Amino acid sequence: MTRIYVCRKCKKKYSPEAYSQSRFCLNCGTYLTARIVVSSRPHRRVKAPETGVESTASENQWLPRGYEERKGQVKFIEEATKALESDKVFLGSAPCGIGKSLGSLLSVLPLLEENKLLISFRTRSQLHIFLKELKALKQNPLTVSFFSKQDMCPLRVKSGVSYFDFLEECRRLKENCESATKPYCRFYWNLIRRKRKADELALDCARKILDPKEASRRMAMQSFCAYEALKRVLSKVNIFLGTYNYTFNKPVREALLQSWGVDLSKVYLIVDEAHNLPTFARERLSDKLTQTTIESALRETENFEHKNLSAVQEYLSLLDNQIFQRAQKRLGKVNLKLLDPQEVSDLFLEVSGTSGIQAAEILHEYGEHVREKRQELGNEKIFSYNHRVGEFIGNFLQRIDKKYVHLIQRDWGDRIHLEVRSLDGREITDPVLREARGSIVMSGFLSPPKVYRDLILRSKADVHLREFDSPFPPENRLILAARDVSSRFEKRTDKMLQKWGKYIEGISEANAGNMGVFFTSYNLMNTVISHIETDRKMIVEERKTRRSDVMEKLTRSRHNVLFGVMGGKFSEGMDYPDNLLTCVVTVGLPYATWSIYQKALINYYDYQFHGRGRMYAYLTPAIFRLIQACGRVHRSATDKGCIVILDERVTRPNIKQLLPSYYQKEMKTVKNPKECNENITKFWHKQRGLI
Ligand code: SF4
Repeated sequence: MTRIYVCRKCKKKYSPEAYSQSRFCLNCGTYLTARIVVSSRPHRRVKAPETGVESTASENQWLPRGYEERKGQVKFIEEATKALESDKVFLGSAPCGIGKSLGSLLSVLPLLEENKLLISFRTRSQLHIFLKELKALKQNPLTVSFFSKQDMCPLRVKSGVSYFDFLEECRRLKENCESATKPYCRFYWNLIRRKRKADELALDCARKILDPKEASRRMAMQSFCAYEALKRVLSKVNIFLGTYNYTFNKPVREALLQSWGVDLSKVYLIVDEAHNLPTFARERLSDKLTQTTIESALRETENFEHKNLSAVQEYLSLLDNQIFQRAQKRLGKVNLKLLDPQEVSDLFLEVSGTSGIQAAEILHEYGEHVREKRQELGNEKIFSYNHRVGEFIGNFLQRIDKKYVHLIQRDWGDRIHLEVRSLDGREITDPVLREARGSIVMSGFLSPPKVYRDLILRSKADVHLREFDSPFPPENRLILAARDVSSRFEKRTDKMLQKWGKYIEGISEANAGNMGVFFTSYNLMNTVISHIETDRKMIVEERKTRRSDVMEKLTRSRHNVLFGVMGGKFSEGMDYPDNLLTCVVTVGLPYATWSIYQKALINYYDYQFHGRGRMYAYLTPAIFRLIQACGRVHRSATDKGCIVILDERVTRPNIKQLLPSYYQKEMKTVKNPKECNENITKFWHKQRGLI
């Protein structure tokens, strides 16, 4: 990869050496712009997937037209490419502004050859960023993206049913295409009848890199099912984009790879928003059963005869009376308690003479019978509650090693759940990331990266870990931490509440533009608000507050203060364009609510990571929420503003080391509200050129 500098006006090119002598064109005096030529293997022949035309990578067929380098992006590409070429998993923490979506594409595409690229995302907004970058490339590889089948189905009548019933109904409607009398899916029938036309249209969607919604609309206009049509042309497609399920849910991934005609060793992976990955994987290995499901399963037994009916009813009553109803009493005033799976197993033996595992099998078998009967009767709903109960009991009693914890829980609606929760999702993430041809795992925030590496991968070997600094100019930001305030429980006195109030009032006076103040909880927010006097218009986050309303208020006037919570809808995943927020204040450290599960997670990580359980399970997620909130100020290179962390604990070495590296370098401490106010005033004077 090389970097060159080009004159915007006369297009004359300069080497980096020439640029270091003068930043202006020697020909016409115009400011020079950086361009990069991506090629980690300069003389290698690369075949463009769609055209089949061969060229050297140095001719750079992938860069977008008019590409302008972003600060940090070249480094990102170099590091990711190095990792891919040396068969290492690349784990990159790249803050907002580096352009990591394009960077990751420019790392993989020159190496792609006949392999495939699977891009995995968590939120739809990230999908759209990738699609935009792919469309802008000089070469547009055939690309398909999927939401779930139900989301892409044009038969909207099916949208209200469970996903299981939807799939069953879809399968039935497809099978009925062979029959002249039964109801069938006309969108699927047309795929069979007009195969060539459907394939042409699907390939056209792939060529145009349409998002799933647009592809579904276009295919439906011609009476075709987009999901099935796109799946049929997958073998010709180079790039697939889908949610984490398409990558980390084994049956879904295997079905995708089969349609794609490759195995995982021929697939490069880009996993974005990877800070979600540990939780996603743990959730996939967890299971939950509510009392409502047991009640529905009991009602189901009234309608379907079977040789094991009385046994099934006995097991369900046992669960309902002995476990769920007792759990209510057992929980008392707390909402979460441990439950020994052996106790459940013994109860089955004692009451029914059958082991819990056998009971699970019988419930499962009865559930299969119910499904078959429902199908025979032509019911729209094929789902069986007994099948679900059997599946859960099997999971609950079989997932019993150190990696799991068994719980009874009461939710907000006073309903009881039985749960088996995973403490370790690496059995899902590690094999996929290692078996793939190459993996780029990235996020705007993986701090500290080593913790995320350990939570995603089983060993440190063959991992290329990189943390990048924010590409935005450091002079555009001021990061302050207050030394004399803390949200530690024993310090939450009236005096502390007043001090927080004083800080917020002072910042409110000194700051230019809208500000956001984010707390650890709604409770703390409402208490502190009562101590604040400000001439700014207050916008207070409530459960029903809509993002669009808040954006409108912030745009209408620049003298607002938005109050919300860390981890809430205004402090994460929300962009404030055009410098709409010029200051974020965070009050306290947003630790997860202390619970038995949290304790079990800490103990397990203590055991796995040599006594660092608290850091892995408790501190790191809190720092994530804190930095996410702080990150709302600087969304582009021109955004200017202040970040004030009102908790002295971030200045302590054990917590400071968990902050992003540029926070550690730039963060200044203040001793009182007055000093904080002075620093902010000085910052804005400097921005206005007054000092
Ligand atoms: S085949 Fe397609 S259109 Fe028909 S029911 Fe299934 S998903 Fe919907």
